[in-house]
Amino acid sequence: MCRHTAWLGRPRTLQELVIDPPYGLVRQSFSPRHQRYGIVNADGFGVGWFSAERAEPARYRRATPIWSDPSFASLAGVVRSRCVLAAVRSATVGGPGGEEACAPFLLPGGVLLSHNGAVPVAAIAPLVSPAALAAVGSTVDSAFVAALVADRLAGGRFAVGLAGALTAAVTAVAAVAPAARLNLVATDGTTVAATTWGDTLCWRVADGGVIVGSEPSDDEPGWTDVPDRSLLVLSGDGCAVTALPEGVV
Ligand code: GLN
Repeated sequence: MCRHTAWLGRPRTLQELVIDPPYGLVRQSFSPRHQRYGIVNADGFGVGWFSAERAEPARYRRATPIWSDPSFASLAGVVRSRCVLAAVRSATVGGPGGEEACAPFLLPGGVLLSHNGAVPVAAIAPLVSPAALAAVGSTVDSAFVAALVADRLAGGRFAVGLAGALTAAVTAVAAVAPAARLNLVATDGTTVAATTWGDTLCWRVADGGVIVGSEPSDDEPGWTDVPDRSLLVLSGDGCAVTALPEGVV
């Protein structure tokens, strides 16, 4: 499984969020502590962030390991955001390479999404609209999941927005692929929603905001593990964790 992390709170630099923490994403790319599947996360990385300049978030993605990118290290100290979603990739066997296959994926409406896990493409493909997949721009299994979330967001049935779309996507995939692993994190810049379905996730209030991560980025007190098969929602009002339904919603 890849590793991902999200921040919602006061403006902080990408360096503070991704590079500086002793067990942050850079460290997790070569020495994760809680990873159940895969050993290193060296098949690329991506960072997405929201700014006041435009509604659509910016992304920096590369197909190379995060530790080997001096350009990211150079810009990370001067880019500051209230809402960041970042991931390092351990490619699932058989999937495509390239930066297009690296999270965060961009969904219509300016939503960023990351996926830790694996899904059989043959099972999920019939659920996904070709237009949504084309907009996501990759054929990696995670892009199919992102496209499914985009379809659910666009469907208009889900007044609860991101959380409802993630819930619908996870339960729909699990119904056709029971062994799928579906830890998702998505954000529209205001809310962060995440699921646990087969792998680890935790969160902590710190430094004027909330961090969510596949694993703790430091050994400070206050990290809370999210139980498997849960939905986590962060907003300006705090953090709520609820159980995901077992059947299709
Ligand atoms: N299946 C996704 C990919 O290949 C995610 C992999 C992972 O979580 N390790 O990128």
